[in-house]
Order: sequence, then C-alpha cells, then structure tokens
Amino acid sequence: MTGPTVLISADMEGISGIVHPTETNPDRYDYDRSRRLMTAEVNAAILGVLEAEPDAAVLVADAHGPFRNLLPEELDRRARLVRGQPRPLGMVAGLELGADALLLVGYHARAGSGPAVLAHTMSGAVLDVRLNGRPTGEIGLNATVAGRFGVPVVLLSGDDVACAELRDLVPGAVTVEVKHALGQAAAVTLHPGEAQERLRRAATTAVRQRAQVPPLTLPGPIDVEVDLYSPATVDLATLVPGFARAPGARTVTFTGRDMAEAYRGVQLLVQLGQIKPG
Ligand SMILES: [Zn+2]
Repeated sequence: MTGPTVLISADMEGISGIVHPTETNPDRYDYDRSRRLMTAEVNAAILGVLEAEPDAAVLVADAHGPFRNLLPEELDRRARLVRGQPRPLGMVAGLELGADALLLVGYHARAGSGPAVLAHTMSGAVLDVRLNGRPTGEIGLNATVAGRFGVPVVLLSGDDVACAELRDLVPGAVTVEVKHALGQAAAVTLHPGEAQERLRRAATTAVRQRAQVPPLTLPGPIDVEVDLYSPATVDLATLVPGFARAPGARTVTFTGRDMAEAYRGVQLLVQLGQIKPG
C-alpha cells in the first residue's frame, strides 16, 4: 500500500533560535549552527508526518537562499530532498510531482509586516509583491502555487506574525509559533528542542486533518506588481517581453496566465535583482 505524498518546504528565518542575518547568510559566521537547527526542525516535522501516515512519501524542498542549506546526511533518511536552484517552482519544487499536503517549516512574515523576525519577500531586492492588488509574501505566494496544483497548506511554523499570516489565508491550517517577534532581529524564542517537539506533534495533527483544509486557489490571469529596491533592476526587468514599468520608477508589472507562471516571473525579478547592469 502506498500512502499520501507530503511536501515539506523549509525556510530558515522562522526556525527557533534564529533572529539575525548573521545566522541565515551562508557567508556569515553563525550560519553553520543555523543549518543544523533547520535540519533538526525539519526532521521533527518528518517524524510527525510519518506518525500520522507511516506509508507517506515525504519530500523536502530546501527553500532558503541558495536552496542548499539542509545537511543531506543528517536529514531523516526516509525523506527525499529537493536541493539547488533555479527551479520553476522555487520554494515549493516537488509539487509538480503530485502531493497531498504541503507543510511550511521555518517560514517568515512578508515584507512590510511586523514587527516580525527577518520579514521580507523573496529577497532584499524586493520591497513588495501584489497579486491582483493584494500584498502577498512568501507564505501567500507558495500557498497559492500549491493551490494551483490542488494541494492544501496544512501547517506552518515560524514566529507569531508568520503564523497569523497563514491563518488569515488558510483558517483551517495548524500553526506552530516557535518564537514571538520583538522586532526585525529580536524575538522571545522557544528552546529548539521544545520547538521540535511541538512541531512533531502539530505535523501529526495537520496531516491527519488534511482533508478538511481546502487548497488556496487564485484563478488566472493574475496581475502581478512587484516593487523593487533598485530602479536599475526595473530597467533590466523591462527588457523581458510582457514586463512593464508602472508609473513610478520602482514598480514592474506583468500578467501570469496562472499562479505557476506568476511565480516564475517573481522569481526572475529576484534573480535580476542580483545583477548590476552595464
Ligand atoms: Zn529564507
């Protein structure tokens, strides 16, 4: 008998104990500790999923920065790992293989919300993303991409603001608050061991309840507006057919035929944000 397929998308900013960019940037000194904390928290989620569904196929998408953070050799060997970039479905790669539920582990609130730990949307190059006029962070973007594939988001772990952001979009989802935000780089955090224990239990509950949570769908075409930090990135983006400059120097607009296409466009702008023109 084969069980359900469960995808776990793992980011780093919403992992317990982590509050500062020195802990999430691969070039900075505290990053190696954060990789271990992230891997341990994902392992707790895998354990919880398999307690609910021992025959589940568990797929983990590494979804922070370069998408190469989780330590493959320390990950629960019953899971398979999606690693590296770029990839069309970005933070939720694996959905295209078919899944029954999506769990968001270590997630953070959207740019401009808060106070929330390390709140941003996709990268520092992006100031805001709006789908049909509605400000949407990584939680909303990934949840609606999942909805495009008919997959519900059943769980999120992160700070209190990230948890509220998902509950606002998906009222039936289970949330695990592993820290309470005091600011962009400050929080009252649970001990990692305690966070892992709560996440394990919540994952079991969330997977058992998955049939009660509807996918978050946003039918196409979808009007996407992205405010960018650098006007130079806007110049680059308007070289792409279909991408236009909105009134004001910092906003790019385009239309996605569906949510998967809208998401690819946002990912492209993030990549362009790393290029210095000329
Ligand atoms: Zn991240």
